[in-house]
Amino acid sequence: MDFRDSPEEAAFRSRLRAWLAENNPGLPVSSTDDEYWARQAEWHTALYDAGFFGLSWPSRFGGHDRPSVFDVILDEELAAAGAPPRPSLGYLVQGITTHGSEAVQERFLPGLISGRERWCQGFSEPDAGSDLASLRTTARRDGDEYVIDGYKIWTSYSDVADWCFLLARTDPDVPKHKGLSAFAVPMHQPGIQQRSLRMINGITKEFGQVTFDGARVPAENRIGEPGEGWRIAMTIVSHEREPGEVGYVARYAKTVKDLEATVRADPGAFRSDQREAVAWAHVQAEMLRLHVRRRLSERMERVDHGPGGSIDKLLMTWVEQTVGAAALSVAGPRALLDGDDVALKIYLYSRAQSVMGGTSQIQKNIVATRILGLPTG
Ligand SMILES: Cc1cc2nc3c(=O)[nH]c(=O)nc-3n(C[C@H](O)[C@H](O)[C@H](O)COP(=O)(O)OP(=O)(O)OC[C@H]3O[C@@H](n4cnc5c(N)ncnc54)[C@H](O)[C@@H]3O)c2cc1C
Repeated sequence: MDFRDSPEEAAFRSRLRAWLAENNPGLPVSSTDDEYWARQAEWHTALYDAGFFGLSWPSRFGGHDRPSVFDVILDEELAAAGAPPRPSLGYLVQGITTHGSEAVQERFLPGLISGRERWCQGFSEPDAGSDLASLRTTARRDGDEYVIDGYKIWTSYSDVADWCFLLARTDPDVPKHKGLSAFAVPMHQPGIQQRSLRMINGITKEFGQVTFDGARVPAENRIGEPGEGWRIAMTIVSHEREPGEVGYVARYAKTVKDLEATVRADPGAFRSDQREAVAWAHVQAEMLRLHVRRRLSERMERVDHGPGGSIDKLLMTWVEQTVGAAALSVAGPRALLDGDDVALKIYLYSRAQSVMGGTSQIQKNIVATRILGLPTG
């Protein structure tokens, strides 16, 4: 594998670097502040309008038809500039591209990719997280529409979403995995109520709970066939578990860069274990960056990783929690002071990484049964 830029990649990198020098919005770290989430849409459309978002997605939907190594370059340059990571919605694009009809793709992909239409993902329910197939939200056919009743929780970006990628039960009389369907549900309607949830680190704009009470969705907004919901959900979560898809490499690298700058500014002020924590975080973040490069190169060769996405998710979690622990170590007791608690917020958010997109225990179950072939039960 040759990691050097081709002439085309080098030209793209320098154009991007010049743009970032002028257009870095200087937002807070993604996991620590409501301001970051509030200005996500603005950052998304700025990146898109400048030609730096949706790089590997089809041009007919607003992408650029480039090889996915351009996403790696984007992540690297965002991290180097200390800019926010790219918006993380590749898994929804993959879900719609893989399962949606031509009409669904044409209707929804351009707005999703350009950021002009905001989306959330309505899968989890109070008793259906790891056991997603047990979900109870129903979609009942009524003429040319479906009527939705139920309750979703931990729905990221529900406060700003125009559309919900909803998983609901359309057939209660078949085995639970077979009775699910997926929909693009318009969020702005009387049958839907959204309430924000406050995270332990104080963020109120990351996710919410959504109630559907007789909400309506046109049947033409169904994504895939009736009963295809489980397969669609698996496509989405497998991509949600890939760091290359969600762009988190840049998020970790930004924090590591900040920690290094703090320690370098006054090395004598830090104990050896604190300096070591930063060095280890650097090694981990770099390992993930190279792993993502390898994964994306393999993708260009059409290698299907299947359950390998669970290994990626475990790696990503490991890296985020190492970076979070390093941030806390460097901050020391200051982390507990109001107004100086960024490191604590980074650390607390890193704990969520082993839950979101499927818990670490579930990833280990998948690795055990589907990769190692160990017996179940
Ligand atoms: C920051 C964040 C953002 C999120 N965003 C979204 C979103 O946008 N949309 C959405 O739909 N959901 C979202 N989620 C929800 C997430 O997908 C669920 O929290 C996750 O799937 C776990 O489900 P649960 O919380 O119901 O925990 P549970 O499934 O109740 O699990 C509780 C504990 O039991 C363990 N456990 C459960 N089953 C097994 C098993 N078979 N073997 C071993 N251990 C097991 C789990 O690992 C966990 O430790 C988000 C979560 C977080 C933290």
